[in-house]
Amino acid sequence: MTPFAGQRIAVLGLGRAGLPAARRLRDWGADVTAWDDGEAARAAAEAAGIAVGQPERFDLLMISPGIPHRGPKAHPLARRAAEIGAPVLCDVEFLYRAVRAVGSRARFVGITGTNGKSTTTALLDHLARAAGMVVATGGNLGPPALDMPVLADDGVYILEMSSYSAERLDRARFALGALLNLSPDHLDRHGDMAGYAAAKARVMLGNDLAVFGMDDAETRAVAAAHEGRVVPVSGHMPQPGGIWGDGALLRDGAGVIVDLSGALALPGPHNAQNAAAATALAFGLGIARAVAGRALLTYPGLPHRQERVGEVDGIAFLNDSKATNADSTAYALACHDRVVWIAGGVPKAGGIVPLASLFPRVAEALLIGQAAEEFAATLAEHGVPHRVVGTLDAAVAEGLEAARRTGSGAVLLSPACASFDQFRSFEARGDAFRDFVRNLANREAEAA
Ligand code: ADP
Repeated sequence: MTPFAGQRIAVLGLGRAGLPAARRLRDWGADVTAWDDGEAARAAAEAAGIAVGQPERFDLLMISPGIPHRGPKAHPLARRAAEIGAPVLCDVEFLYRAVRAVGSRARFVGITGTNGKSTTTALLDHLARAAGMVVATGGNLGPPALDMPVLADDGVYILEMSSYSAERLDRARFALGALLNLSPDHLDRHGDMAGYAAAKARVMLGNDLAVFGMDDAETRAVAAAHEGRVVPVSGHMPQPGGIWGDGALLRDGAGVIVDLSGALALPGPHNAQNAAAATALAFGLGIARAVAGRALLTYPGLPHRQERVGEVDGIAFLNDSKATNADSTAYALACHDRVVWIAGGVPKAGGIVPLASLFPRVAEALLIGQAAEEFAATLAEHGVPHRVVGTLDAAVAEGLEAARRTGSGAVLLSPACASFDQFRSFEARGDAFRDFVRNLANREAEAA
């Protein structure tokens, strides 16, 4: 199969998405030259038999999501692309072209928005698999686009689209698109809110069915201007012609689809919006109501997002290590009435001050890492019981004691901080938490 036979393709950025892309495009017959400013990445490409360099002439530029191609920070190779009129494209665009070039009518589903993309993507993957569909899921989450198989006509691609990828789409059309929400984020790259919204809205061009989150004004405005079939969704407001959360119930015009209180991996109203969006897409793919409803209850959740990693004496341990700022932690705290909260790490500006209205939900806070003293001062001001315990290991053991003492149902790691003072990444922090909880559960079982 040679969908790109004879085309000169420059690949810029040889990381998670770039290196597999360079290999795949070469295997598809392209004349590939790849570049990365990092020497180790270039060496890895050379070892994989990829030509390395910054070519003067090329037909297309495939660029990694994190590298700017416009404005003062544009990479020289991206500037060159502009000079010679070569389109700058993301890996999803290349996947789309390859799939169509071999005559496959496999459907593409694109999911974008500021928050909830990974959850909605993983949830739709779960629903589609439950319905026995042939799916390939990835993009921002999971395998990069050019590590995915070429599917036949009955296949479905479920792609999490960041704004960085979305703005580098060209001919790709998603049969189904979802724009979950828009909040000011990544504005440095897109200039302003309008630019950011326009980048995301590219996922919604020419859809057969477009799902829009109605819970914020920015997304409502994009939906109102959309040409084509719109299915509105909300976490908490009735949507004529759409799907919405009503307390724990997920509803549409035909009635209750499912009671989400049984869906342990989808706590909180923000997840009702994600569930509504995934369900709207599932219906759009032709998945039966009963099948979708049942599968919503068995969704296992994603690691590090309020992930239930263990239970001791009926006390749940929840790993929300992905919450690296106060905003994300707010969603987690809002899911509890009385919780032992583990927080700390490398604090963001403002710390946990924005969470003050949620402090009444905290039975006791256990503080770790660099932020511990600063957070202790904030909590003391608001009269919230807290202790500086230093490490995550200590916080897990103390967490169980604190939960027993205060009658809390859960110990929640939702740090509102980056992890770099004590861990390599938020994933490493969450994995460590999972291990500590497992050890604690074993110790408790032995003692019993
Ligand atoms: P993304 O992939 O867009 O970063 P995730 O599904 O990984 O989103 O969720 C990341 C965090 O964003 C969650 O832990 C939660 O704090 C918050 N979140 C998830 N869904 C929503 C939503 N629909 N609206 C607002 N915030 C959300």
